[in-house]
Amino acid sequence: MSSVFSFGSGVLVAGQIGLDKRVLGGKGANLAEMARIGLPVPPGFTISAGECLAYLDHGRASLDRIRDEVSAALGLVERATGKTFGNPRDPLLVSVRSGARVSMPGMMDTILNLGINDATVTGLGQSSGDERFALDSYRRFIQMYSSVVLEIEHGVFEAALDRIKEDRGVDEDIDLRVEDLRGVIATFKDLVLAHHGAAFPQDVQEQLWTAIEAVFRSWDSPRAKVYRRLNDIPGDWGTAVNVQAMVFGNLGETSATGVAFTRNPATGEKAYYGEWLANAQGEDVVAGIRTPQYLTRAAREAAGARLPSMQEAMPKAYAQLAEVFELLERHYRDMQDIEFTVERGRLYLLQTRSGKRTAKAALKIAVDMVEESLVDEVTALLRLDPASLDQLLHPSLDPNAPRVLLGKGLPASPGAASGGVVFDAETAARWAELGEKVILVRHETSPDDIHGMHVATGILTARGGMTSHAAVVARGMGRPCVAGTASLKIDPVARVAEIGGQRLEEGAFITIDGSTGEVFLGELPTILPKLSGDFATVMAWADKHRRLKIRTNAETPLDCEMARRFGAEGVGLCRTEHMFFDESRILAMRQMILADSEKERRSALDQLLPEQRTDFRRIFEIMEGLPVTIRLLDPPLHEFLPHTDSEFTELSRAMGIDVEQVRHRAIELAETNPMLGHRGCRLGVVYPEIYEMQARAIFEAALEVAGEAGMAVCPEIMIPLVGLPRELESLKDTLYRVAEVVFAEKGERIAFSVGTMIELPRAALVADEIAASGEFFSFGTNDLTQTTLGISRDDAARFLGAYVEKGIIAKDPFVTLDIEGVGKLIEMASRKGRETRPDLKLGICGEHGGDPATIAFCEEIGLDYVSASPFRVPIARLAAAQAAL
Ligand code: ADP
Ligand code: MG
Ligand code: MG
Repeated sequence: MSSVFSFGSGVLVAGQIGLDKRVLGGKGANLAEMARIGLPVPPGFTISAGECLAYLDHGRASLDRIRDEVSAALGLVERATGKTFGNPRDPLLVSVRSGARVSMPGMMDTILNLGINDATVTGLGQSSGDERFALDSYRRFIQMYSSVVLEIEHGVFEAALDRIKEDRGVDEDIDLRVEDLRGVIATFKDLVLAHHGAAFPQDVQEQLWTAIEAVFRSWDSPRAKVYRRLNDIPGDWGTAVNVQAMVFGNLGETSATGVAFTRNPATGEKAYYGEWLANAQGEDVVAGIRTPQYLTRAAREAAGARLPSMQEAMPKAYAQLAEVFELLERHYRDMQDIEFTVERGRLYLLQTRSGKRTAKAALKIAVDMVEESLVDEVTALLRLDPASLDQLLHPSLDPNAPRVLLGKGLPASPGAASGGVVFDAETAARWAELGEKVILVRHETSPDDIHGMHVATGILTARGGMTSHAAVVARGMGRPCVAGTASLKIDPVARVAEIGGQRLEEGAFITIDGSTGEVFLGELPTILPKLSGDFATVMAWADKHRRLKIRTNAETPLDCEMARRFGAEGVGLCRTEHMFFDESRILAMRQMILADSEKERRSALDQLLPEQRTDFRRIFEIMEGLPVTIRLLDPPLHEFLPHTDSEFTELSRAMGIDVEQVRHRAIELAETNPMLGHRGCRLGVVYPEIYEMQARAIFEAALEVAGEAGMAVCPEIMIPLVGLPRELESLKDTLYRVAEVVFAEKGERIAFSVGTMIELPRAALVADEIAASGEFFSFGTNDLTQTTLGISRDDAARFLGAYVEKGIIAKDPFVTLDIEGVGKLIEMASRKGRETRPDLKLGICGEHGGDPATIAFCEEIGLDYVSASPFRVPIARLAAAQAAL
């Protein structure tokens, strides 16, 4: 089978032979497809991603297999362009571009203008009739090749270029004249010799093959690895290489280059959005070297910008481009992100892909495209990324809050963020580690900043446009970003910035609003978002298509209210111990724990009873008859013990015993391995009065709400950490006994159920016996993961990273359920449980309840519900619908 596929040369068309992104990479597949449907794509060829893996495994020797194919494919490009690679009179130049299966913006390397040397540069000047252009292309090529292939720090060339510009008294690269450029090239060559120890290669074949190797190698560069880890991209995909005839956006004022979206990627608005620069090449737009101009007149006018839009400056090419936008959107049925170049008035397409977009834009585009009949509801639903909805649920700036506006940039990625300013990614990472909120402030970001952008609450840049690296990556991550803030002056060395007359030292607090582009002094208050409009429409679609019920893990009235707003259909896990950490209660709790006798313990519990009753009452009222699963006390008691001297003193006073005695009892309670110690239902077995109090609080609260408010209530009482059927049986008896006593006292009854958490492997193994008394199972996947893998969640961080890095496990099992192991236990326990009790209610709670991959698994094995934290409820609703479709 061949590994090299031509496109655009009218001979072999990859798209027609059924190859996809797995072989050609996203860029290669779409170039072939655009060429196939007749769009003007410069001819070229794609080397398959499989060859990248072969190269990384076997090194240079693997290239021998493709040499003939590459030279044949290059021959087709020569024929199609009428130029010859390395020909000193009219040379063919190519770009060498990476392209993985999914887009990794700017992560891997591109080299433009390859094929220039001291001989061909003259021919290029003559054939184009523009010597300046030829020299400019040569200096760009030396710069890119040296940084990508020879791995010479690119700052070396930039510094030299800046010096020459300063010497000549010019501001911009394009102001350099022929003589200046000759000087630049000579200087660059000297730099190569000095840093590389050999001259810049003049042999064009050597240029080509070393560039191909560099693209292959870039797949395993540190920044590509970080990006893959953050985006769950497997290392064994590899990247394809695209070699393509150059077209030139730097051939004077009738030439240009640009990047465009068919709809606004920040808001989703149906309006072309993009940026362009006349007399420029490739990276100039995205890398923020020159500030780009708006694509459309409307956008330019809205921004009050002076420099003309492409629509105004190049109406013909623009009109042609607009036609291409329409065609590509209809073809791919999705919003496209397009890279183009105009060479002396002629438009060429260099890339198209589904555009990255904010969650807000994704929803608007989904709803609009269904309305436009471009896609159906199911397709639109399946396309959305559930995890991204998170962005919409978080607060935005309170419009009524007083504010000090410092300046304004481009609204590159929406949302409000506050934090202390930091000027480099390392500092951002270090401060974030210490729990500080930071805003990463840079001239422009580069792929090396990814880790800092990831930990920052927001990103602010001085240069670059809506399609700059910072903007694209921030939108992908869901980080608020303000880009291209011209009034922002940064001195990264002195670690200080200035904007709107305000000096900002490292750590000074600012707030950015990525929806408006505004930058404010200090930390501004925020408000909760409205969940109407497109969000509501999409959620309604999701609800129509899902089978799984979605509950929430919540114990405070605030969280319960929030979860209901987000569409929760019940509480799947109410952790009662969280209710005891309250300042007013912790004292009684501590008295209870340290009590010496049952009598002392009961008197402390009597103080807690009314408090618990009030808690449950509020929750029942908020949930209005929806099921509420309440877990009885679970954690090891020593978690509630006092720590500080003053806490001990206060406790000794309350209990009327000596401080030393209190300390002594606290020491007695310490355990060697609390996670596997006296916790969960073991507390209920040894101190039944604790669970009796909690049960009484639940029943009394339920009767109050049912009686006074006439409201339905549906309590489900859950016993934690059961491993032995007898544990559940005996505690269930206790609960039913308390129920009868309370019902008799009040002369009223309510329905309730008693079930258990399945969180020990033994419980899963004997689930049929446990279901004899358990009326429902909730899989407590946090503990079940710990106990099945024998990995403590609190200690896992020290070694799990290495496991993921070495490929021993694919993902953190505390984030995405370990389906082969833990999943098997869940599946088995569900089956066994339902053998005993066909109507056994099954659900999962724990962090995994909000994870889309886990939700897909729950759908597959037929659970009844998943329970997720309030902010993940909408994510779970959408993921459940996708799982059912
Ligand atoms: P990235 O994946 O980082 O976007 P690309 O391979 O798309 O890298 O290349 C970046 C830019 O280089 C393109 O947007 C385009 O402007 C320019 N470019 C790439 N190939 C060519 C070409 N054959 N002719 C002209 N410009 C090109
Ligand atoms: Mg690109
Ligand atoms: Mg547990």
